[in-house]
Amino acid sequence: MSTTLIQLAYLVASVLFILGLRNLSSPRTASLGNQMAAMGMLIAIVATLLVQGVVDYPVVIAGLVVGSLIGAVAASRIQMTDMPQMVALLNGFGGAASVLVAGAEVSSRITAGELPTGIVPAAIVASALIGGLTLTGSLIAFAKLQEWMRGAPIQYPAQQYVNASIALVTLAACVALAMAPLDLQLFGILTALALLLGILLVIPIGGADMPVVIALLNSYSGLAACATGFVLDNSALVISGSLVGASGLILTKIMCDAMNRSLGNVLFGAFGAQSAVASVSADGSDQGTPTAYTPIDAAVIFSNARSVIVVPGYGMAVAQAQHAVRELTDTLAANGMEVNFAIHPVAGRMPGHMNVLLAEADVPYERLVEMDEINPQFPETDVVLVIGANDVVNPAAREDEGSPIYGMPVLEVDRAQHVFVIKRSMNPGFAGIQNPLFFKENTMMIFGDAKKVVIELNDAVKNY
Ligand code: NDP
Repeated sequence: MSTTLIQLAYLVASVLFILGLRNLSSPRTASLGNQMAAMGMLIAIVATLLVQGVVDYPVVIAGLVVGSLIGAVAASRIQMTDMPQMVALLNGFGGAASVLVAGAEVSSRITAGELPTGIVPAAIVASALIGGLTLTGSLIAFAKLQEWMRGAPIQYPAQQYVNASIALVTLAACVALAMAPLDLQLFGILTALALLLGILLVIPIGGADMPVVIALLNSYSGLAACATGFVLDNSALVISGSLVGASGLILTKIMCDAMNRSLGNVLFGAFGAQSAVASVSADGSDQGTPTAYTPIDAAVIFSNARSVIVVPGYGMAVAQAQHAVRELTDTLAANGMEVNFAIHPVAGRMPGHMNVLLAEADVPYERLVEMDEINPQFPETDVVLVIGANDVVNPAAREDEGSPIYGMPVLEVDRAQHVFVIKRSMNPGFAGIQNPLFFKENTMMIFGDAKKVVIELNDAVKNY
């Protein structure tokens, strides 16, 4: 295939990536967006396989078969709630691929005696540095989320100085490699330092901040791929890498804003070190006794309501209650009630988690209302049904200046007339802190697994 045709194929692939991303911005067009991006990737892969002299087909096919098998088994086994870990691993592999490809290119240039020029030395440095850091940082994030490692921040004396010193040595190695880009030993040293830095930078970050770290590492894996695109002179890789880099950064910013925290605070604030203490002392005993209701008691209040807002959270995902929730809301709507869903940007464990689950259960998109739009509606709402959400409805974020989540924008459910909270116990949520909502006068707890309780509530409302 001629170079022009390959470049043209890369251009088509890149346009499809961009249109795919554009379509992913709305639930209505997200599926089409996914297909467009996948088609773009197929075109890019086929075009690359046709580049003469670049590929060794038996090796590529062997890699494709082994990789596809592992990917298919892992993707079909993974629980929706474990998706952040899966994304962390995939980011890590992306970083590793960038280091390996850049290393292979350095070694083949040494063999060919071909000195890199222009931006290529800097791109070799960036591939080793960002790729290495992404690999180990992602593996630590994976281990924390999978609970193979303690989720609490790991801290030791003079930690910032140790990190700063290693960062300085790494910087020196970057400069040295940029000046001698075909020194394979230097490439190895920089990669080793980047691997170490990835570990050291992520261990002091609390488990509660891992999803943000994963979004950031996702952005890094894109930047590493982009750098490798420059090393290989591959425009499709440069474009797709920068798209991943930019979208990962935007997502990181959205997540930080949703928690009212700066990126610096997420990366260096050791969030979770204090909140672990708070969860022990705030056992709820000093806040009164929560009011417990059964689904049958609750049905009475539901039957007299005109407006209901459902607030889904991580517990709905754990219980896989989304279909039961859709059925309950269908019943309520059929009884003439106005039913909407309040969607907090960081409810669940990954961005868009609630939207994905509710879309899977065919909840109409127009019923999903974002936080800023729905918050003023709570005071006029008869009943709020919180299903497995905790931190995102915690009024301490508004009222308690001493709370670790003070300032985080939350759904102001406590302003509604009646609030029902479905969860299994008084255990805290992801941030590890107690929730004063559960002790308010207008709050009634329905203890149990979200799916079971919602089914019982639906039956009770139908039979009331
Ligand atoms: P939380 O983690 O705060 O609370 C979830 C609640 O669900 C728990 O209190 C738990 O209580 C309950 N639960 C668990 N399993 C079940 C079940 N089977 N049935 C009923 N209830 C259940 O979730 P939120 O969605 O409110 O908040 C998300 C948290 O994740 C926030 O702290 C957010 O900052 C954080 N986060 C999210 C990100 C994202 O992208 N979505 C990114 C970064 C952070 P119990 O054990 O008593 O049942």
